[in-house]
Amino acid sequence: MSTLSIVTIPDKVLRQKSQPVTRFDAELQRLIDGMVETLREANGVGLAAPQVGESRQLAVIWTLPDVDDEGNEIEDTRELHVIVNPEIFWRSKEMVKGIEGCLSIPGYLGEVERHESIRVRGQDRHGRKVRLRLYDWTARIFQHEIDHLNGELYIDKLTAPENIWTEEEFEKRQEAARQAKDKNAPPAHDPVVGD
Ligand SMILES: [Zn+2]
Repeated sequence: MSTLSIVTIPDKVLRQKSQPVTRFDAELQRLIDGMVETLREANGVGLAAPQVGESRQLAVIWTLPDVDDEGNEIEDTRELHVIVNPEIFWRSKEMVKGIEGCLSIPGYLGEVERHESIRVRGQDRHGRKVRLRLYDWTARIFQHEIDHLNGELYIDKLTAPENIWTEEEFEKRQEAARQAKDKNAPPAHDPVVGD
């Protein structure tokens, strides 16, 4: 199994509404396996089919690991989701701001407001119905990936047009914020890069 090439902006496939998946055949399984491998190789947290040039309602999500009190990653706490034909059928009123990146927009990070929790229905890789309740960063990643399936990108939803930075600028900003304890700086948590 080899990795797939990732499509970047301004490729048109990223702006199309994806087609529903109707055949859960061997070809689909190969595509999913390729997407999972590509996501792991890129060390990302999510990858939607349009990002590998396939306009289909499919995304793979690899959740962030749990961390201990010292901030160290706890092994085997990342969870892999394969979601097909997903639909968000409930959204919390509570909104949270966070920093996102995208494998299709390399080198940039931006601040986006998302629903703190959502409920999603869809199918798994074999076409079985699934329902998920998602919170915090996992809910954020799902919202980002489902946007991809609708031809939407995080840069369409920035909290303000200027709230996008190169990774280098963001790093400097974080450093400056640490030193100045500037209340207006972006959130101190690590960004979700590369999804
Ligand atoms: Zn993305």
